[in-house]
Amino acid sequence: MPQLPDVPLPGLYGDAIMDHYRNPRHRHPMDDADLEAHEFNPFCGDDVTLQIKLDDAGRVEAASSQSQGCSIIQASASMLAQEIEGKTLEELSQLSQRFRDMMQGKAAATNEDGELGELEALQVVRQYPVRIKCALLPWTALEEGIKKFLSRNGSRPQG
Ligand code: ZN
Repeated sequence: MPQLPDVPLPGLYGDAIMDHYRNPRHRHPMDDADLEAHEFNPFCGDDVTLQIKLDDAGRVEAASSQSQGCSIIQASASMLAQEIEGKTLEELSQLSQRFRDMMQGKAAATNEDGELGELEALQVVRQYPVRIKCALLPWTALEEGIKKFLSRNGSRPQG
């Protein structure tokens, strides 16, 4: 599968993405994950496996994302694993929606509480619409993983 050439990403946002690409965080696979999902994008050979361990309160105790493919998916997977620790599944769903809205240009990039944190760097990828899917793939895995987890364990009451 030929890969698309990596896109040039200038400026601070580009630096943050390249930093995660070169030094990915939370890459170690875990053998006791509560939630796990795998996604593949044949278009550019991107591949991601996301694993999450929850604590007794239902918050992310540890996250692992193993990815292969272009710089965008690897940076996005690394940033995701870093940003989700300590959050509940409901908070993860909200974060995922907010990230999706940002990538699709539906929402202001910066929200007041800065909850997207370093993830905001990925909005630079919007300049390359074909690569937006690369940035979203780990989040699709997250959403699929949450869905599977809830159908296995029963949905929690909303709110
Ligand atoms: Zn890609």
